Amino acid sequence: MTTQVINPATEEVVGTVPSTSVAETDAAIARAHAAWPSWRAVAPADRARLLRRFAEAVDGDIERLARLEVANSGHTIGNARWEAGNVRDVLQYYSAAPERLFGKQIPVAGGINLTFAEPLGVVGVIVPWNFPMPIAGWGFAPALAAGNTVVLKPAELTPLTALRLAELAREAGIPEDVFQVIPGKGSVVGERFVTHPDVRKVVFTGSTEVGKRIMAGCADQVKRVTLELGGNNANVVFADADLERAAATAPYAVFDNAGQDCCARSRILVQRSVYDKFMALLEPAVSGVLVDDPGKDGTEMGPLISGDHLEKVRSYVDESTPVAFRGNAPGGPGFWFPPTVVAPVGPDHRVVTDEVFGPVVAVLPFDDEADAVRLANDTEYGLSGSIWTRDIERAIRVSRGVAAGNLSVNSHSSVRYSTPFGGFKQSGLGRELGPDALDAFTDTKNVFVAIEEL
Ligand code: NAD
Repeated sequence: MTTQVINPATEEVVGTVPSTSVAETDAAIARAHAAWPSWRAVAPADRARLLRRFAEAVDGDIERLARLEVANSGHTIGNARWEAGNVRDVLQYYSAAPERLFGKQIPVAGGINLTFAEPLGVVGVIVPWNFPMPIAGWGFAPALAAGNTVVLKPAELTPLTALRLAELAREAGIPEDVFQVIPGKGSVVGERFVTHPDVRKVVFTGSTEVGKRIMAGCADQVKRVTLELGGNNANVVFADADLERAAATAPYAVFDNAGQDCCARSRILVQRSVYDKFMALLEPAVSGVLVDDPGKDGTEMGPLISGDHLEKVRSYVDESTPVAFRGNAPGGPGFWFPPTVVAPVGPDHRVVTDEVFGPVVAVLPFDDEADAVRLANDTEYGLSGSIWTRDIERAIRVSRGVAAGNLSVNSHSSVRYSTPFGGFKQSGLGRELGPDALDAFTDTKNVFVAIEEL
């Protein structure tokens, strides 16, 4: 069985990849299991060197990886270059880990007590279609660094860059069975990662609905799991903020990657006293977003990933949805949807309560700080968000009040490879990136060595 890969900007077929069967998945897991003892036994400095070589191989291939992502996922070329660079950076960052997986020596009576950070075994990484390269890297880089072997399933729609990354790993000298990319269906390959007893951990990024099933399935074997799920994030703009900057940047905080971003700030909450002024500033900023061929330098937004997803996003902008203004989108083939600003709209409209995962943003007014925090938290998600104010005390108070894992003040940044990333509430479980992610790929072993008194 094979699956056709479609370019979402042109609807042309760009490749065909195999759909791995259950039996083939089992065989890949068996190879990963067999490769584990020798991989964990590689000397720390040598494992570090292999990861640095993998990072160098990615660095030398940035343009090819980026072009592949433009063709497969419709990402803008600028974003796709950043994404390939992020894989390199994450590999570089975790290449320092093998030589720094410190345990502890804890004072006890009658001997010495040591802890070891032991690898888990085979780690299954399940990747969504919205950021195929970075999300793959956030799983496989720390997993490999900690001494695990990895089987990785890219999303059905976007397998091409992950397959290329596996080739680069081999070129860098990482043994074939240590890092395998297995394209196929979630219900076949992904499910098998959950049910196969030799997969000791599942790293899942995707929808909250599938994440809940994975968590329930992993419970059967007390399998370790990291979940990065959906978001419905607030961009909170107070009256004392730099309104020009807040309005100029707000479109990019939600329309980047055509809104197909778990961190998209899809609810802009604006203090009522400056609401009209903010909307007047937002309109030219939205019409200035350059939606065009994603392969052209300078394009700021490309198409949606598929025809099905286009229909889903379109269903949120029906006759019940008040559209304040819209940006542009090309006509012709491709899954295009223009940047769309919804207002005035109540907090219970489904365009506000759901994760739309497209270039649609709702703008709602709030009265005071308490009201802003209440509205921001009026969701079962808790992934990211932004706070715009010149009052540092308010910035800290509101940051502490908003129940989300990744907040930014007077900016919209959520992701840095050296800082933790993950969700509160139904946005996830566990943290990726940063110094602590390695804990999610190891188990702590405690060893007491008795020493007799002379
Ligand atoms: P999805 O849940 O449909 O699929 C994600 C992955 O899971 C795919 O590889 C898919 O094949 C696989 N899968 C599907 N069913 C499965 C099953 N039963 N068992 C095992 N694997 C299965 O999500 P999607 O539509 O690809 O991605 C969009 C979602 O991902 C959005 O909700 C978005 O918010 C979320 N997301 C979250 C983060 C984060 O870091 N929190 C990052 C990116 C995307």
